[in-house]
Amino acid sequence: MNFDFSAAEQAFVAEVRQFIEGEAESDDAADVMNPNRESDSILSDTPARKRFNRKMAERGYIGMSWPKEYGGQARPGIYEYLLNEELSRVGAPLIGKGVGCVGQTLIRHGSDKLKAEFLPKILRAEVEFALGYTEPGAGSDLASLKLKAERQGEGWLLNGQKMFTTSAHFADWYWLAARTDPSAKKHKGISLFLVPMDDPGITIHPIETLGEHVTNQVFIDNVWVHEDYLVGEVNKGWTYICEALDYERFTFYTFSPLEEKFNALLSLVKSIRRNGKMISEEATVQSRMARLATDVETAKMLQRRVIYAASQGDVPSIEAAMCKLFSTELHQRLSRAALDFLGEEGLLHKSCDDAPAGGKWEWSYRATALDTIGAGTSEIQKNIIARKRLELPLEY
Ligand SMILES: Cc1cc2nc3c(=O)[nH]c(=O)nc-3n(C[C@H](O)[C@H](O)[C@H](O)COP(=O)(O)OP(=O)(O)OC[C@H]3O[C@@H](n4cnc5c(N)ncnc54)[C@H](O)[C@@H]3O)c2cc1C
Repeated sequence: MNFDFSAAEQAFVAEVRQFIEGEAESDDAADVMNPNRESDSILSDTPARKRFNRKMAERGYIGMSWPKEYGGQARPGIYEYLLNEELSRVGAPLIGKGVGCVGQTLIRHGSDKLKAEFLPKILRAEVEFALGYTEPGAGSDLASLKLKAERQGEGWLLNGQKMFTTSAHFADWYWLAARTDPSAKKHKGISLFLVPMDDPGITIHPIETLGEHVTNQVFIDNVWVHEDYLVGEVNKGWTYICEALDYERFTFYTFSPLEEKFNALLSLVKSIRRNGKMISEEATVQSRMARLATDVETAKMLQRRVIYAASQGDVPSIEAAMCKLFSTELHQRLSRAALDFLGEEGLLHKSCDDAPAGGKWEWSYRATALDTIGAGTSEIQKNIIARKRLELPLEY
């Protein structure tokens, strides 16, 4: 069994690494690449990160998997995964929503007008999107969303509220799921819209999370959208949302941050002296590190199975659920181990001058909790595994 990537894929990784090494020399590199940003690492929220994205676009890294007729290169999705793996290793912004769920959905289902308006801008990294799915009463049970879209003239009038919209405070466009048919079964009456984020009817309130990741509560009051900005067919939104998740299997799950975090933890262990002795000499510390090293290898294999299944054209929902469940919880276990090894000093916030490792571990301990919630909580991943792999009945 060969778990290695092909020669062409490895050559691409080498090329990306060279690009990243070059970028690491730029004046704004500290803003672009920051492995300590934890779950914020995907965001393009500063001029430096936007510049970096445009540079990636110039190199043809945006939209690699898109068909050639839309400006892509028709490369297998694995190249986008490999790119994201290297970007996330250094905490640089990843290619994400624009190329993935927005771009791919427009290519498959969008009108010629929407394709012409958005696809070239995505390829040039000139447009940011925010995904408006979750609502106060619709998170895990997303199909219960209530944001109302009512027919009015040549368009739709939108009213309601969204929760946890990451990027809303700097995005240009809102990729918004709304209920267009309240009488239909809940999965059937949903449609997707593209709404300019600067519409005067949109009010954005920041939500500070445990991990200092800023997400947003968004209020939508009498926002009128021309029917041209309905994506695909009316009431087909749920199908498009599910399909989009499938396109993103390749790019979602990067392993390199786990590997980097483990290596940082190992260096930490080798640097701490307590009661006149290196803690790395203690059997309990060695045992815990050995266990974690094994878990990191396990996470790598789970992730490879997602990539392999997706590359064969399968929808790896069970593999992806196992990978997300295990990897996000392992991120937490690594941070918790660091705090245990550091003792009380480990609790110092990154704003304290003498916080060990610049407060990385204390921040990581808080921030990694978010990954077990976003994009489907750990409980939801367990439900998928129980239902689809184990064929166990669910009570509801
Ligand atoms: C950092 C971050 C960024 C996010 N960004 C976005 C974004 O950009 N756009 C967007 O639309 N959303 C975003 N989300 C929202 C995210 O998708 C939801 O938080 C997530 O799906 C959970 O929904 P909820 O918060 O409503 O919790 P709920 O669904 O209310 O769940 C509450 C608790 O109940 C458990 N639970 C729920 N249902 C079940 C069940 N059937 N069986 C067992 N347990 C269950 C959950 O696991 C959880 O512990 C983001 C979230 C976070 C944390």
